[in-house]
Amino acid sequence: MKEACGVFGVYAPGQGVAQLTFDGIYALQHRGQESAGMAVSDGEAITVVKDMGLVTTVFDERTIACLPGHLAMGHTRYSTTGASEWRNAQPVYRSVGGSGFALGHNGNLTNTGALAERAGMFPGVVASDSDFVAELLAQEFPVPADGAGASAAALETALRAVLPLLEGAFSFVLLDATHVMGVRDAHGFRPLCLGRLGPADQPEGWVLASETPALDIVGATFVRELEPGELVVIDDEGVRSVQAIATERVDPHLCIFEFVYFARPDSRLYGKEVHAARRRMGERLAAQAPVEADLVMGVPESGVPAAEGFARATGIPHGQGLVKNRYIGRTFITPGQGAREEGVRRKLNPLRENIEGKRIVVVDDTIVRGTTQRAVVRMLREAGAREVHLRISCPPVTWPCFYGIDIPRRDELIAARSTIAELEEFLGVDSLAYLSLDNLVAAIDAPGAGFCSACLTGNYPAPVPVELALSSTHPRQAAPAPA
Ligand code: SF4
Repeated sequence: MKEACGVFGVYAPGQGVAQLTFDGIYALQHRGQESAGMAVSDGEAITVVKDMGLVTTVFDERTIACLPGHLAMGHTRYSTTGASEWRNAQPVYRSVGGSGFALGHNGNLTNTGALAERAGMFPGVVASDSDFVAELLAQEFPVPADGAGASAAALETALRAVLPLLEGAFSFVLLDATHVMGVRDAHGFRPLCLGRLGPADQPEGWVLASETPALDIVGATFVRELEPGELVVIDDEGVRSVQAIATERVDPHLCIFEFVYFARPDSRLYGKEVHAARRRMGERLAAQAPVEADLVMGVPESGVPAAEGFARATGIPHGQGLVKNRYIGRTFITPGQGAREEGVRRKLNPLRENIEGKRIVVVDDTIVRGTTQRAVVRMLREAGAREVHLRISCPPVTWPCFYGIDIPRRDELIAARSTIAELEEFLGVDSLAYLSLDNLVAAIDAPGAGFCSACLTGNYPAPVPVELALSSTHPRQAAPAPA
């Protein structure tokens, strides 16, 4: 499973916003490693720099020094629609009405086909759903007939026209010459938060970010999460909030996998720290599926907090059984099971003295194809483990995601076509257990909060058209009717 983009925006007169944006997207690097970019404005002209690669590959001191301004936005990308190539790197930029705007997108739209028809666009004209939104906004940009440039409020006007038409998942950060804006879809599938630079009574600037650690790293104070359907506009008058999508459509469903796997452990979502929630998942997993063992170990890195929780709840010692090569930046997409297992071996290596002769509980967050777990179990057996018991800190992933997370086709999801006994045999473990959905939600401990768990249940909160489900550019199997 791969994340699908990190977004960041900052409005901070008198501060080096390009450096702040670099720091912000660097903190969000885990959400996308294919390309990185930023747009910076000095109040008149917008400069966009973007390229393929990690944030530190795309930007260096010299590039940042050449980006003066007082407002900026940045993006790190992992593609779920549109190929991994330069023209799809973000921000997406459009020049319109003597002005321009830049857009960064986290998520995945589900109704681009219907909208393209409505807007009279032909397939292939736009490269990705983010590019498509930029095109729709450009079409709606109000440009005075007298030839004068677009007004300062043009982007907000265009957004108010376009946002209600969009379905699916989007957290956008946008920038025109004088404003930074952020918006979440009606379900709030992807996170987006607001932070403040400087003291509360005399703010020196404002920050938008996919996750709270990006605020911490630039020295901003967390203010709040944006509400689903909310548009926040930041300019020299401060922060303004607009309900951009009708409240009847607002129905919060934050992606539950942000808690399980995607978000950084030091992130806070729904007011809860992700690391602590993952530890509680491990505690509940221990109560739900106990086992006698000598050592509990997590699969680095997202399985580790749940392993700590499992160990704490059972009293079984927690230790390290695998060492991760910390210099592996991105996971290369390697076709075929054998090649993928090789990839796991490149990344993880067992600590023999901790493993030999022991009964081991391995805690991991998810099983998708089973490749990682199978390779890990094989390594542990080769290193002398006497028993290997696998515990997973979320329920089986049995449905694809249409909201911006790269979950393979249903026929590639091993839990969708196997019983627990078959999985135990395939993975080579002595026992396997998953955390139940009820326990997962209880472990997050955010009473009243809404979650999307469609890849676990098949209940999709936003419509998924069959064309998208069957599209060859987005190879998914047909989804069930929306819940
Ligand atoms: S389908 Fe799964 S991965 Fe996608 S948004 Fe919903 S919970 Fe997250």
